[in-house]
Amino acid sequence: MSESTATILYVEDNPDNRLLVRRILQACGYGLVEAATAKQAMEYLDVHVPDLILMDINMPDVDGYTLTARLKAMPKFNETPIIAMTAYALKGDRERSFEAGCDGYIQKPIDVDTLPKQIQRFLALRRKM
Ligand code: MN
Repeated sequence: MSESTATILYVEDNPDNRLLVRRILQACGYGLVEAATAKQAMEYLDVHVPDLILMDINMPDVDGYTLTARLKAMPKFNETPIIAMTAYALKGDRERSFEAGCDGYIQKPIDVDTLPKQIQRFLALRRKM
């Protein structure tokens, strides 16, 4: 599987962030699936296993920590990196992400120039899992 054909699920309630990430990742040739709520994410994940999940932390229904822990308890996602999209530079948020089972984090605001490299790095992680 080449990186450019990878399917990435982005769980994010903020439409501006979704638009930004959509533009960047589609320009890179990735298949992007978006979920605006944890519920939408679960409906998709019920029948699909993406190559990578980008996980917003603050969401209206279920927060990203809880959703990550729920997914990591399911064996079918053992090889799917889950990357927290954390809005804060606070060390505590990163620690909570890792405790919930996240495999890495991307700090918001999203950096247009850096995101493709970060995505490549996290997809490479998948092959080592
Ligand atoms: Mn949010």
